[in-house]
Amino acid sequence: MLMLKDPSLLRTQAYINGAWVDAAATFTVDNPATGEVIATVADVGVAGTRAAIDAAHAAQPGWAAWTGKERAAVARRFYDLIVANADDLAAILTAEMGKPLPEAKGEILYGASFIEWFAEEAKRIYGDVIPGHQRDKRILVLKQPVGVVGSITPWNFPNAMIARKLAPALAVGCTFVARPSELTPLSALALAALAARAGVPAGVFNVVPSYDAAAVGAELCANPKVAKITFTGSTRVGKILMRQCADTVKKLSLELGGNAPFVVFDDADLDAAADGALIAKFRNAGQTCICANRIYVQAGVYDAFAKKLRERLATLRLGNGTEPGVTTGPLISEAAVAKVERHLRDAVEKGAAVVAGGRRSNLGRTFFEPTLLTEVTQDMLVAREETFGPLAPLVRFATEEEAVAMCNASEFGLAGYVYSRDLARVWRVAERIETGMVGINTGLISTEVAPFGGVKQSGLGREGSKYGCDDYLETKYLCLGGI
Ligand code: ADP
Repeated sequence: MLMLKDPSLLRTQAYINGAWVDAAATFTVDNPATGEVIATVADVGVAGTRAAIDAAHAAQPGWAAWTGKERAAVARRFYDLIVANADDLAAILTAEMGKPLPEAKGEILYGASFIEWFAEEAKRIYGDVIPGHQRDKRILVLKQPVGVVGSITPWNFPNAMIARKLAPALAVGCTFVARPSELTPLSALALAALAARAGVPAGVFNVVPSYDAAAVGAELCANPKVAKITFTGSTRVGKILMRQCADTVKKLSLELGGNAPFVVFDDADLDAAADGALIAKFRNAGQTCICANRIYVQAGVYDAFAKKLRERLATLRLGNGTEPGVTTGPLISEAAVAKVERHLRDAVEKGAAVVAGGRRSNLGRTFFEPTLLTEVTQDMLVAREETFGPLAPLVRFATEEEAVAMCNASEFGLAGYVYSRDLARVWRVAERIETGMVGINTGLISTEVAPFGGVKQSGLGREGSKYGCDDYLETKYLCLGGI
């Protein structure tokens, strides 16, 4: 039973056009740590999604007509309410997703930081004046909201993945239809409850819980009233959405899969590198798209680094995220555990050694022990596919050239990490590594003030920072003649 200070944040109806609505169909939301049903939620399907799109479309011109300062004031109230209710939001998040409570609260504050940042940016959506090309002409540039935004988000950050998209959209005058993961709709609905309290007008932010992701996704992509799709999730689904958006030439922001390399050079501060690897790999039980997936360690420090990382693994505590002291929660599903096992088995068959963990935990079906593998090579699945679980594979390399080549031998390019104390090497590698983000001597890179996003098949667009508004804006050029 979920105990909240404000039980009205636990919503099970959809939020469409400023009203809480039921649906004929429902689906259940489970706690991944216990398997218990937490809630039964309205499944609004395609019909409800269409209603939400209509509402968002009707509300958009009015919302865009508000001054930036007016939108900023509402967004700021929304931020304050999220922070004031962070404990309840974290409790809901842990219940439906599993991450430890302190990490859940961290996610709530991280998500809120985007609402705050873009509330500030709402007042600064500047256009431009360009010197004319003819004597009787003047040239102006306006920045205008793209219109209705359709959002599809995953379960691993049930709050922050929505907040990161919603914040710039609201700030610049777009309206929003959020389709949260069917595994974690409760965090999205709680956000809607707070948005309503903050004074976000009806139709501006809608949440359409739905079980059939493919059908609702197809509607969002095909509906001509939707101007843009913003998606975080797998590269596989990102490609489907991209194809589906072709017919109406929608704008797209895609934050897709990663396969982050984490490189430790001979000259690195090994303690700092081991600390960084622990957090970059095991945060959220390895279930983030910027988690270190392949850890490349230079031969001279390979054994010493493996020992240090192993020591740190021993400090992790696996358990239900509601228990004090737990650092590592369950995986989202048994299928997620099976993927970790598949990667582990493949690696061991090809010669890798299990140095720590390596099994399901006796805590139950979704718990897997934090695992360290050595003697991993590039041909193993762990080095090629995103594991999305608590499995750290150490690959040995000899030269900088080889490390860069191994990093770039991937169709993905989201985050990369480099540990070295040689400034020139850091610069060379950071320039050559094919990722959208590079952590240098740090394993934690996410912040609302920096542009988050990937290259190659890791996606399109950026979330956060002064660049983050661009994804939600059109550029219109006015040519004034006869002057
Ligand atoms: P993950 O592995 O992180 O769950 P997915 O890409 O499978 O990544 O899922 C991300 C989100 O996309 C989830 O909300 C999921 O329900 C949704 N989704 C899955 N398949 C489709 C689809 N065909 N069209 C639209 N959304 C989809």
